[in-house]
Amino acid sequence: MSPQNLSECIRAVRERIAGAAAAAGRSAQSVTLLAVSKAQPPAMLRAAAACGIADFGESYLQEALGKLAALQDLPLTWHFVGRLQANKTRPVAASFAWVHAVDRLRLAERLSAQRPLQAAPLNVCLQVNLAGETTKGGVSAAELPALAAAVAPLPRIRLRGLMCIPPEETDPERQRAWFRRLRQLFVALNDAGAGLDTLSMGMSGDFEAAILEGATLVRIGTALFGSRPAGGGTAPATRA
Ligand SMILES: *Cc1c(COP(=O)(O)O)cnc(C)c1O
Repeated sequence: MSPQNLSECIRAVRERIAGAAAAAGRSAQSVTLLAVSKAQPPAMLRAAAACGIADFGESYLQEALGKLAALQDLPLTWHFVGRLQANKTRPVAASFAWVHAVDRLRLAERLSAQRPLQAAPLNVCLQVNLAGETTKGGVSAAELPALAAAVAPLPRIRLRGLMCIPPEETDPERQRAWFRRLRQLFVALNDAGAGLDTLSMGMSGDFEAAILEGATLVRIGTALFGSRPAGGGTAPATRA
């Protein structure tokens, strides 16, 4: 993709975000655009940063660490959005600002214990597996309240919100139904005093539906960068 095309795609996605936010009676600034840059080379991220993208999401640890090193001159915020194995938490705790797919206490405990003391607490979202899909990570809705209660007091992480990767749907109403479910879980936790501020939901195929249901952060890859090369992370959040 040429730099011109990239800036055009970023502009188009920003316009669609603003349109969906306006339709929901919200400001465009209430939705963070997280550019999911897995399988994209550092030069592409640098070009996106020049267009004003400040938040980048990565799914594969080795690939991500190379990009963090190559782009350390830029003031970027790095989000780990992939599935994380417990034996790989240390470099994530050391180098990222956010982790979006925490789905068990052991992961959160390790991230908290391994977060460097000089860094700000690590921002964490709990991934919820709304449809009980065995191919995807995530805690069940039933087990979510207990997990949230156990994660919240960990000292070196800050529980910010919920994240989901719902089943692929093409019908906007069916898309919205999944996101509405996550928002209801979010509201229920906040009613119980959780103090969450982040709903990480919506990808290239469904981010407008997510915004209509209250997304505060959308994770967008292909709509910004074009399709990923085969084998370059086409499956969302299935391996670290
Ligand atoms: C790859 C990925 C995305 C982006 O998906 P697109 O459909 O390319 O926008 C978002 N979230 C997660 C967790 C991913 O792994």
